[in-house]
Amino acid sequence: MTDFDLSTIRNIGIMAHIDAGKTTTTERMLYYTGFLHKMGEVHDGNTFTDWMEQERERGITITSATVTCYWKKHQINIIDTPGHVDFTAEVERALRILDGAIGIFCGVGGVEPQSETVWHQADRYKIPRMAFVNKLDRIGADFEHVIEMIQDRLTKDALPIQLPIGKEDKFLGIIDLISMQAYYFDSNTLGFTFRTEAIPKDLLGQSEQARELLIEAVSEYDDDLLSHYVEGIDIPDALVRKAIRKGTITNQFVPVMCGSSLKNIGVQLLLDAINDFLPSPLDRGSVIGYDKITHKEIEVFPDSNEKFAALAFKVQIDKYVGKLIYVRVYSGSIKKGDMFWNHTNDKKERVARILQMHSNKKNDIDELHAGDIGALVGPKFTATGDTITSPDLPLLLSKMNFPDSVISIAIEPKTKADLEILNDALSKFEEEDPTFHVNQDKDTGQTLLSGMGELHLEIIIDRLFREFNVKPNVGNPQVAYKETITSNAVAEEQFVRELNGKGTFAGVKISVTPLRENQLKDGKRNLFDNLIDSTIIPEEFWTAIEESVFNALNDGPLINSTVERVKVSLIGGLYNPVDSTEASFRIATAMAVGKALRGANPAIMEPIMLLTVITPEEFVGDVISDINSKRGKIDIIRIQNEHVQEIVAEVPMSELFGYATRVRSISQGRVVYTLEFKKYEVVPPAIQTNILKRIRGY
Ligand code: GDP
Ligand code: MG
Repeated sequence: MTDFDLSTIRNIGIMAHIDAGKTTTTERMLYYTGFLHKMGEVHDGNTFTDWMEQERERGITITSATVTCYWKKHQINIIDTPGHVDFTAEVERALRILDGAIGIFCGVGGVEPQSETVWHQADRYKIPRMAFVNKLDRIGADFEHVIEMIQDRLTKDALPIQLPIGKEDKFLGIIDLISMQAYYFDSNTLGFTFRTEAIPKDLLGQSEQARELLIEAVSEYDDDLLSHYVEGIDIPDALVRKAIRKGTITNQFVPVMCGSSLKNIGVQLLLDAINDFLPSPLDRGSVIGYDKITHKEIEVFPDSNEKFAALAFKVQIDKYVGKLIYVRVYSGSIKKGDMFWNHTNDKKERVARILQMHSNKKNDIDELHAGDIGALVGPKFTATGDTITSPDLPLLLSKMNFPDSVISIAIEPKTKADLEILNDALSKFEEEDPTFHVNQDKDTGQTLLSGMGELHLEIIIDRLFREFNVKPNVGNPQVAYKETITSNAVAEEQFVRELNGKGTFAGVKISVTPLRENQLKDGKRNLFDNLIDSTIIPEEFWTAIEESVFNALNDGPLINSTVERVKVSLIGGLYNPVDSTEASFRIATAMAVGKALRGANPAIMEPIMLLTVITPEEFVGDVISDINSKRGKIDIIRIQNEHVQEIVAEVPMSELFGYATRVRSISQGRVVYTLEFKKYEVVPPAIQTNILKRIRGY
């Protein structure tokens, strides 16, 4: 594109419960848009069958971070957002950088717990959204019921802008409540062609009613529409669209659409709606970061002529190309060959290539502009969450926060040869996935993998085998414990040592105070407060002391796990102009922190999960008593319909290993559940005693 018009860009995510039809819908979107694109290049000989073959490989494309397609002079970047909560990091990072989203719901199941979770995650990021009720061809599909569920569980601001014509195997087409026309999609061309007709007589009354509701609701967002509506003047379609757009991009309205992706009904209308109603980068506006040196706020604008600023939101290691750094550009532009500055790690790096995923091909492009999304090749040190800019813009965008890894497993390679492959593979996974960590167990020397849940780690193990052909021995999953303190303490330590006739000396006095979780912001795990002045310890040592404090907090007094929710204050010290060194202050600090933590009634914390169980009524009692026996606390019991109930509970992760099997045996496989990390909490004293016995042997 030579003329770069930001208003024609859409960076959107598709959020859906597993099986709601995200992949199928995305496929159709790529098909309809890709076909148009290919039609312009007949000489390429891209026949229909070619395309179908590529489509079978689409699984790969969908797992890439973004796919770009063009629809009616708009560039749509689709950002992948997986449905499973074990991959919540993927969801969070997508939400951070996209401008709008489509929630896809199954016409039978409606709003499932996971789509509810993701929807509310998107609320936090104030992402404008539309909803697409898919699978209306399925037996049991009920558009109205799904609308009620959406209004009840997600947002009361949702209203249909379409109605289905028929349902189940009689689902024939779609009524557009804006143009008041019926759309029928031609199955011979896989829905590629469609025709419009007058609304069937038997649906006319219902359609007029629904339109009335819609116009009334959205006239609130546009005065022009309001006056037409109040005065009873004919309302042009464009005016209704404008009002829906205004309501949607300001997060006050959620248009609901319908269709069947599998039967190729409605997807083009969905594409139209993306262009019509979801925000462009201009609508989303400026982003606020802060100056790295002065810490003052900096606002960056979606304007290609400004200085370059972007966020690296995903790293992917590609078999052929190497490391791909996916970036969202917030202002300015970057060209192939440019240098950029990474302010998160203070490194200057060069961009060798810029790639865009177009349908299922990687296209080299020369430049990325404000508002755009693409992948950089060349940078070596840039990681997920880093801010990159032009060298003269000392900007840091707010950090991306990823949840804690709550479980770990130990693995062991079977052969020496495997060890090397294993290490390579694991460091690759670790680079790609900010919620996956690899550590060596200090005592046993084993390799510990930690992640978000059993499924997350199972997939890693499975990938080791499928992609690298290694099958390590795998231990049982363990909970990732943490430590905290439960009272205040003060400690003072001096480090005095004589080495080769030269003395070293430092004295540090600190206090520790327990913090509540809500006293910590921006993903911080602990706080440090320096309460001394340079007459007590000269300023040149302060950084070393602070670093040493945070280091010491990685090694808890009970089980050597990380310590969190502690405020450490530097309240005094001793210094000697001849003998004091940075190293001696580091050691004295580590000693003082360790002593203070031991004196502050340390406690072990465990991960607590949010467990959502959907169960037929007859198993409710068994499910609840099982949860109670697992130290669980029931939050809510909701009636889904006359046969099915939903139970939401907080349960310690350590009690949930093998829950899948347990639940199957309770209910003969008729109960489904999801698990999501909720928080860390101090364990009861008896449990702490057991953990200490197990880990320390006493
Ligand atoms: P995802 O897990 O959300 O990506 O869902 P998929 O697109 O993989 O779809 C899950 C299953 O539902 C697949 O078997 C699809 O063929 C099927 N499916 C998707 N859309 C529809 C639809 O509109 N109608 C029907 N009947 N099945 C659908
Ligand atoms: Mg899928």
